[in-house]
Amino acid sequence: MSELRRLLNRTEVKAVYPDDVEAVLEATGLAAHLTAGKLRCRRCGRVLSRADIACVLRTREGFAALCSDIECCTSTFQETGEPQ
Ligand SMILES: [Zn+2]
Repeated sequence: MSELRRLLNRTEVKAVYPDDVEAVLEATGLAAHLTAGKLRCRRCGRVLSRADIACVLRTREGFAALCSDIECCTSTFQETGEPQ
């Protein structure tokens, strides 16, 4: 397991700098989905481009992304206080 992946599995890590997004996408396995055009917002289902990704979440199944629509981020976190 890479150092970045290990860090991402720690709940204290809440955000990354924009320059690190690429590395985060690689470490979480989301980069392949993005490249294939199959990465979707976990909330609204919209297909994401790199510029649309506002948030990467750790979920029960692994990792997921949210789009830049503020509703997707706020509703996801407000419902339970944690990403589902
Ligand atoms: Zn969305």
